[in-house]
Amino acid sequence: MTTSIQIQLSDHAASPAERAARMTNPGFGRIFTDHMVVVPYHEGQGWGPGVLKAYGPLAMDPAASVLHYGQAIFEGFKAFKQQDGSVACFRPDANARRFNVSARRLAMPDLPEELFLAAAQALITQDQAWVPGAVGESLYMRPLMIGTEAALGVKPSNEYLFILLASPSGAYFPAGVKPVTVWISEDYVRAAPGGTGFAKCAGNYAASLVAQHQAKGEGCDQVVWLDAIHREYIEEMGGMNLFFVYQENGETVVVTPELTGSLLPGITRDSLLTLAREQGFRAEERRISVSEWRSAIAEGRMTEAFACGTAAVITPVGEVKSARGGWTIHGGQTGPVAAKLRQILLDLQHGLAPDTHGWMKKIVG
Ligand SMILES: *Cc1c(COP(=O)(O)O)cnc(C)c1O
Repeated sequence: MTTSIQIQLSDHAASPAERAARMTNPGFGRIFTDHMVVVPYHEGQGWGPGVLKAYGPLAMDPAASVLHYGQAIFEGFKAFKQQDGSVACFRPDANARRFNVSARRLAMPDLPEELFLAAAQALITQDQAWVPGAVGESLYMRPLMIGTEAALGVKPSNEYLFILLASPSGAYFPAGVKPVTVWISEDYVRAAPGGTGFAKCAGNYAASLVAQHQAKGEGCDQVVWLDAIHREYIEEMGGMNLFFVYQENGETVVVTPELTGSLLPGITRDSLLTLAREQGFRAEERRISVSEWRSAIAEGRMTEAFACGTAAVITPVGEVKSARGGWTIHGGQTGPVAAKLRQILLDLQHGLAPDTHGWMKKIVG
C-alpha cells in the first residue's frame, strides 16, 4: 500500500476567467474543479497506485457490481479559506474513520485513513484556486467508493475504485437561513435495526427519494424519519440529524436522538453536542417521540428544532406536518439557539474563532 498520489495534470484546466465565471453563484454540488483523485483496489494487491488527473467521465464495465448490487458509499466534508489565505478542512479525519465504518457494513475494503487524507491534500493543493473565500462558502469534498468487478454473481466485488471530487459551494441559503417545513413520514422508513442506517451508503438515499417526493407533494421541504419498529421515535430529517431545544427551569437543554444503529452518526451532530455544552447548555442524547415533540411544543417547553449536517450546517425547522396534524415552531422563524450554534460553527470553520478542539486540519498555506 502506498499513500502517494501520482500527479497527471489536466490539459484543459479552466482559465482564471472561466473559473471565475463558473464560481459565480455555484449553488451546491453543481460545478466541479479541474481535477479528481482516483485510486483502484484489487483484492490481493490492495490500494494503489493513486492518480490525480483531469476531472472527467469514468469508463466502467456495464457488469460492474455497483451498477447491479449497489456497493457504493460516500462522504462529505468541506475545505474553508482561512483569514490568512490558507485552506483548512473541518474534521476530515472523522470522515475518513466513518468512511471505513460504512465500507465494513457494505463488505468493502478499508481505505487507510492516511490515503483518504493524502487524496484530499493532493486535490485541494492542486485546485486551491477553486476554494471560495466568503463566509458560508467552501470547497465541498466528495469521496466515494464503488465496486467495479465485472461479475453478476452476488458477492462482494474484488475490485473497487476510491474517487475524490471537489465542488465549490456557495452559501447553502444565499438569502439567509430560512426555516424548513417538514413532513413526518408514516408510510416509509429510512432504516431498520440491523440495516444500513449508520452507513453512508448510496442505497439509503435511493430508498429515501420517494418519501422526499411525498413530502414535497404535502407542501413540505423535507421528510422526517421515524424508527422502523414503533413508528414513533424521531430519527433524522432527510440527510441531516435533528436537535430539539427545551427551556427547563431557566436552563437551555438541547436534545438529539440517540444513535441506535439506524441513525447516521453526523460529524456536525457530534460537534454541536460539544459546542452546545461549551455554551452552558445541557446536551442530551436520548429517544424522543412524535407525541413528545407535539406536546412539548403545545406546552411551550420546546422552543426550537433544527437539523444539522455538513452541507447546510444548521437548518431550523419552522413547521411540522403529518397525517395526524401539525404544529409551528418558534413562529416559523429561526430561534436564538440555532442561530447562535450556527454562528459559532461557521466562525470556527472559517478561522474567525480559535480552534480549541483541533478540528481544523490545515491543507494548504
Ligand atoms: C451525511 C448525513 C448526515 C450528516 O452528517 P455530517 O457528518 O454532519 O455531514 C446525517 N444524516 C444522514 C442520513 C447523512 O447521510
